[in-house]
Amino acid sequence: MKAAVYQNPYEIKIEEVPKPEVKAGRVLVHFKTGSICGTDMHFYRGDWRWMKRGRIIGHDACGIRDDTGERVVMVPVVNCGHCYFCLRGLPTYCIHGKFYGLTRDGFFVESKALPSRALISVPDNISDEEAAVVEPVALALRVLNHLQPNLGDWVTVVGQGGIGLLMTQIALLKGCRVIAVDIEDYCLELSKKYGADIVINAKTEDVSKTIRKLTKYGSDFVIEAAGIKETVEQTPFLVRKSGKVVLVGESKGYLNLEDADEAQFFTMYISAIEYPFAVELISRRLVDVRGLITHRFGLEQIETAFKTIDDPLNRTLKVIINR
Ligand SMILES: [Zn+2]
Ligand SMILES: [Zn+2]
Repeated sequence: MKAAVYQNPYEIKIEEVPKPEVKAGRVLVHFKTGSICGTDMHFYRGDWRWMKRGRIIGHDACGIRDDTGERVVMVPVVNCGHCYFCLRGLPTYCIHGKFYGLTRDGFFVESKALPSRALISVPDNISDEEAAVVEPVALALRVLNHLQPNLGDWVTVVGQGGIGLLMTQIALLKGCRVIAVDIEDYCLELSKKYGADIVINAKTEDVSKTIRKLTKYGSDFVIEAAGIKETVEQTPFLVRKSGKVVLVGESKGYLNLEDADEAQFFTMYISAIEYPFAVELISRRLVDVRGLITHRFGLEQIETAFKTIDDPLNRTLKVIINR
């Protein structure tokens, strides 16, 4: 059977791999639809060296259960429930955790055997494509749940790609005032469509000055979702004193904390437990993922898919991979 395999930076190929062995407690799932995310692009560009050669990629996908024929979302993080971190309510950092598509073989393969608790059934009103864009919704939920904003708090979301636009949507659901920042007008148009209070094009406006003027003291919360060093380094100048900054796109960079007294900075990349809530939000039409889908490719065209995303001229947001 065929799988999308990471070989080297800028080299992801379709290869023949053996069919999975279905051990006790596991369910065979046939891949239907997946999507590519910013993490995959970091691997593709060789930014994160811990991606191993020969690893099957893909961590956001839906498929069909072989035993029941049911449609399911595949959850990439499975925790053990009894290690140091699990016992402290931090399943994301499970020592024995499986991170499919990251530290274990992922979902972009014709069939995969998975523990049944890594599968969430998909309600009928969610399309296959929507069921393939759940991971960023779960992450956005985790981030905003963690920040616990009050009604009307300022949330600045730097980067309005797929993940940033979901942060914008969920921050608005939480009753926040959202400042959406990007360098592409087509992204900011979507931010406006989803209800962002303010949009800033960082190419033409001074982001820090505009935010100070609007908020007086700085943004209560800042979410870095652009995934580049420069925007990480900008965050201390956007947050108010004692505010919070979440880095979801990239963690490298120099933080000058001169004016960011008592502000808290932390990273957050993956969500282990918000998946069922994410599926529910999509099903109830509270969060829109359909409007984020810009391109579609077959699994066999995986190389073209990555090349397309890598070129900013193609204006990709969420790119779908179909079987
Ligand atoms: Zn991802
Ligand atoms: Zn654990």
